[in-house]
Amino acid sequence: MTVPTRRSDSDQNSDEKEHDDTSVTYHFVCGFCDEVLETESIDGMYDRGTAHLEDHRNDLLVSFVNGPRQNRCETDCGYVFPIDIDSVDGFECPECGHDNFGSLARRHLYWEMELV
Ligand SMILES: [Zn+2]
Ligand SMILES: [Zn+2]
Repeated sequence: MTVPTRRSDSDQNSDEKEHDDTSVTYHFVCGFCDEVLETESIDGMYDRGTAHLEDHRNDLLVSFVNGPRQNRCETDCGYVFPIDIDSVDGFECPECGHDNFGSLARRHLYWEMELV
């Protein structure tokens, strides 16, 4: 005998949602093209989001260069990307050659995604 268990901690939504295939938890609206990504896990969001942001490599680079934070190379080489888009060639670190796209895309997703 299995008794269906109710989630009492998230009951403010009155209409019952089906389990599993519709249980979206992570929600990301792409700021570059308005596409909406929805996944059930944070890893799934990172996978799909990073793949999606490949389409926006240049836009993402510009937003990081113009952003409020310093963009250090993900490795410990100590390189800090300049805050001038004309001085930045891409996500590859000129010091050690590491491609920082993956880590910066994840950081972008981290800040922009919503838990629903
Ligand atoms: Zn997009
Ligand atoms: Zn580096």
